[in-house]
Amino acid sequence: MNENQSLDQSAEETRSTIAEHGRKMLEQGLTKGTGGNISARVGDDHIAISPSGMPYNSVETEDVPVMDFDGERVRGDRDPSSELSMHSQVYRRRDDVGAVLHNHSPYATTFATIDEPIPASHYLIAFAGNEVPVASYETYATEELGNAAVETLGDDHNACLLQNHGVLAVGDDVESAFETALMVEYCARIQYQSMAIGEPTIIPEEEVDHLQSKFEGYGQSN
Ligand code: 13P
Ligand code: ZN
Repeated sequence: MNENQSLDQSAEETRSTIAEHGRKMLEQGLTKGTGGNISARVGDDHIAISPSGMPYNSVETEDVPVMDFDGERVRGDRDPSSELSMHSQVYRRRDDVGAVLHNHSPYATTFATIDEPIPASHYLIAFAGNEVPVASYETYATEELGNAAVETLGDDHNACLLQNHGVLAVGDDVESAFETALMVEYCARIQYQSMAIGEPTIIPEEEVDHLQSKFEGYGQSN
């Protein structure tokens, strides 16, 4: 198999998974309109990323472009997400990340708007880290936004908020980044509701660390 065929084979499934999870973001209320974007690594040198400004319900596998790390499109005809720089910066900084998802989910974005992290008030925060911190405001689709997001994620968080904008979640693959984004939205909602009727209690940091290792063996993973 030559280099081109091997790229096509590994890219096809990833492009289809990205198209499918764009629809799921809408279905799950994680975004509105064409907001948000999803990408995943294809081999060592490429990423597949959702097309810019296309309604999720009309995105098919072939609409998902494949890019190299210099920003050149190597497959597809559509323009890549305007947040390509932010996604690429995450892959450059974090070897452990295989997929990146950005959305504007409403409860999490509420915390992003008051510039407050989502604290460890529900145990599912451990999907994201010890809290979900806020990256300072930068204009959408700029390198500065990517810098702020990558600095805030650091090496220990799987999600952060983008001030006055939305959420960034990362994972091994599209499914895990998507699940983390769902958990971030859920934790934001619980924190919001708890603040409305009382004072939320916070899980100690050692217990969040414990939860993170416990999740590694959760469910059918053994
Ligand atoms: P794209 O449609 O270009 O991916 O942009 C949506 C967005 O959420 C920008 O931050
Ligand atoms: Zn956005």
